[in-house]
Amino acid sequence: MTARPADGNAAVEAGWRTLIRQTPHHWAALTPLQTVPFSPLTRRCITLKIKREDALDSRLSGNKLYKLYGHWQEAKVQGARRLISFGGYYSNHLHALAYLGRAAGMATLGIVRGQEPQLLSDTLQDCRDQGMALHFVSRQQYRQLRTAGQDSAEALRKGLQADLPPDTRPDHPGHDYVIPEGGGGSAGLSGCGAIMTALRAQTDLTRATVCVACGTGTTLAGLLAASLPGERLLGFAALKLGEHLSRYSSDVMAQLDGRTVGGHWDIFDDRYFGGFAKTQPQLFAFMRSFESETGVLLDPVYTAKLLYQLVQLAEAGYWPAGHEIIVVHSGGLQGRRGYPELIS
Ligand SMILES: *Cc1c(COP(=O)(O)O)cnc(C)c1O
Repeated sequence: MTARPADGNAAVEAGWRTLIRQTPHHWAALTPLQTVPFSPLTRRCITLKIKREDALDSRLSGNKLYKLYGHWQEAKVQGARRLISFGGYYSNHLHALAYLGRAAGMATLGIVRGQEPQLLSDTLQDCRDQGMALHFVSRQQYRQLRTAGQDSAEALRKGLQADLPPDTRPDHPGHDYVIPEGGGGSAGLSGCGAIMTALRAQTDLTRATVCVACGTGTTLAGLLAASLPGERLLGFAALKLGEHLSRYSSDVMAQLDGRTVGGHWDIFDDRYFGGFAKTQPQLFAFMRSFESETGVLLDPVYTAKLLYQLVQLAEAGYWPAGHEIIVVHSGGLQGRRGYPELIS
């Protein structure tokens, strides 16, 4: 299958190529730190500022691009020609990878959890349109392949080979670079620190708390590794962790791989909506009120739950009046298309 020209627009693609010639430090310096008045917070004299990583580019944006950067650099050093990774039908990670591959002129293969649906999700259709090869596997096989991929590209290929369509077979041993699900790992973490450094240049971090939504926790780990004494960070896990919260925190620490953390930090879990990707009408109602008041769009899996919790914390008096809350908007807006509630 031949890929459609991206958005049918060569200028758009040229823009992406320019973007990926730059580094995460350039990107983070470009995205604005926007003051966003939102009445439930302003009422309590708390200032909300949003670091608009969603606004870097309409397609190449959000934390997934920052996480992919280090992997992509590493793949180039290793002389790889193809980037392989894993995800579900609505994966922000595969979506970002497909666009990066397109812009970088590198082949991409997405291993997708679940049967090939009759009608692809908008996310996967975008991936395919950007030239990503999609390979659908059962949940069980997905887990096996994900583990094999942690060992080596060879091990992954062994698991895949029989099923691979011919055009995606490797032609030399260093052909493939495997990126962990979600883009984690040490290479994924390093790009995220640029956001913290840029924030420090954009505001006085000593009077503020930097907040970010967490899945694997890699983005938070990257911010932590770049933090300095006197700075405060909060991670908002998109998962219901309950008693596993401390284990999750240790996992974040483990990802730091010996890097030191300057700032003070803590993690909250999804205690309102029942866990990963679970939603309730109340979440969509909150999104509507936030978006209509501020004009900033959120995604229901990560950033909406983060903002919702900020309001709960503010109402419980968690921050003193005059405090500044900085939300790193991690993007993911493409995922809104999977929710009929958000299509007006
Ligand atoms: C993946 C994702 C996150 C979580 O990032 P991690 O590094 O996995 O913790 C947060 N927000 C959005 C929009 C994402 O797509």
